[in-house]
Amino acid sequence: MFLSVKELELRKIGFDRIFEPGQIEFTGEDLEQGSPLHAAGSAEMLPESGGQLRVWGSYTVEMAAQCDRCLAPVRYPLNATFDLYYRPASDVPEEEEVKIDAGEAEIGFYEDGLDLEDILREQVLLALPMQRVCNESCKGICPGCGRNRNETACDCKPGLDDRWGALREIKL
Ligand SMILES: [Zn+2]
Ligand SMILES: [Zn+2]
Repeated sequence: MFLSVKELELRKIGFDRIFEPGQIEFTGEDLEQGSPLHAAGSAEMLPESGGQLRVWGSYTVEMAAQCDRCLAPVRYPLNATFDLYYRPASDVPEEEEVKIDAGEAEIGFYEDGLDLEDILREQVLLALPMQRVCNESCKGICPGCGRNRNETACDCKPGLDDRWGALREIKL
């Protein structure tokens, strides 16, 4: 859904939409959208602001990823709000651009308008933890025998992994 500046100059735009998995691009992030994403909110051009846009609302979705340590599926039910401000890209003087990149990450810029899908994608990525684990205490997969150490304890000792692997091969 494109939030066009031309339209926002005339009126506030409300949205209440369901995005099925696949409609918002999450590939390349090792993520899957596990449920439809429901987003509702509004976009408007703030009066007397020199063209500043505000987009706010809330969304719910369930995302799914693999545990970074044991590869088990991890589900992230998200239910969050957002309140974002965007300034016209043409308004930014060259030097200020650098300053804003460093400090004011919460301010974005637009040219002809904003893609609601892009905004939601960014919000979902921000809401997810950097490290995606099934459990803080997940023991992960043993590099020696490949067992999931949350399920099975193994006798592998750090540093002896290669020898154990070699032994098993001889037995086979
Ligand atoms: Zn895990
Ligand atoms: Zn092991």
